[in-house]
Amino acid sequence: ATLKKYLSHQSTNKTLSPKRQILEISLHRVVRNQNFLEEFEVYYQPIVDIKSGQIIAAESLLRWQSPELGLVLPTEFIPLAESTGLIIPVDRWVLQNVCKQIKSWHDAGIPYLTVTVNLSVMEFNQPDFIDKIVEFININHLEPQYLEIELTESMIMQDVNSAIATMNELQSLGVSIAIDDFGTGYSSLIYLKNLPVNTLKIDRYFIHNVAQDYQKSAITKALIEMAHNLNMQVVAEGVETEAELSFLRENNCNAMQGFLFSLPLPAAEFENFLWNNKRLPRLPV
Ligand code: C2E
Ligand code: MG
Ligand code: MG
Ligand code: MG
Repeated sequence: ATLKKYLSHQSTNKTLSPKRQILEISLHRVVRNQNFLEEFEVYYQPIVDIKSGQIIAAESLLRWQSPELGLVLPTEFIPLAESTGLIIPVDRWVLQNVCKQIKSWHDAGIPYLTVTVNLSVMEFNQPDFIDKIVEFININHLEPQYLEIELTESMIMQDVNSAIATMNELQSLGVSIAIDDFGTGYSSLIYLKNLPVNTLKIDRYFIHNVAQDYQKSAITKALIEMAHNLNMQVVAEGVETEAELSFLRENNCNAMQGFLFSLPLPAAEFENFLWNNKRLPRLPV
């Protein structure tokens, strides 16, 4: 078994592209030198309440400005961080950073704002994951309900019972839970009813062109209704057009995020956005 593991490691190594090797070396360097503040930045994408038009939350999304590679997006470095285990210090840095940010926004007079954090399954399954969350909440004197952890279906389905146990621990601390990219993973609806979840985020695949696509609109309507029957809030991801927004408004989706309203922004720009009181345009219903 060890030899097999060695050989498969060798063969993946051989196929590594030069860019991927540089990525890996650079990521190791950031973590080893604790260089997070210099190279990593957390961006925030506003999440807007569809009825009131108000920003009620933000999703934190990590950006890496590497001296060697320029801007690297998470779709490139998260899989690499996962396969090397570096995701654990990375996700912890994001969590700590976001907890600090939530506290400072609350102190600055935005007491209702929730911020969500994406986590890798590796971090979620760490034995001291809950201890770390407790630590970050305590250090920052945070009201825990304003921290929301985003999990994907596949993370939960890897080991449903252990995931439910961790989710219950989070909720008993007061931390909220969202299921991210819903509809693309492969989870059984039987489990969904047993999951302690506050928010369902419908994947942007369904939202893209939802008003014109009969099948997507049927599925999206059903997802919204199902989530509401299970007492979950519904957030639509990747809203890019007015037609998509109108559809979501007509079908009682609670909140949305997407390029139509705003790209993910650095913290200072996100704050300006809030102070300028940017709201959803009023659309004819
Ligand atoms: P996600 O959690 O599903 O995040 C939503 C992604 O959709 C983000 O990509 C966001 O920039 C993008 N997006 C938002 N609105 C629109 C839109 O209207 N149209 C389109 N086409 N895209 C939109 P991003 O920032 O590149 O992140 C990709 C994924 O990387 C995230 O997907 C999440 O799974 C992961 N990720 C991001 N930050 C972290 C992190 O700190 N830790 C971990 N473990 N994963 C992260
Ligand atoms: Mg997410
Ligand atoms: Mg998502
Ligand atoms: Mg995703």
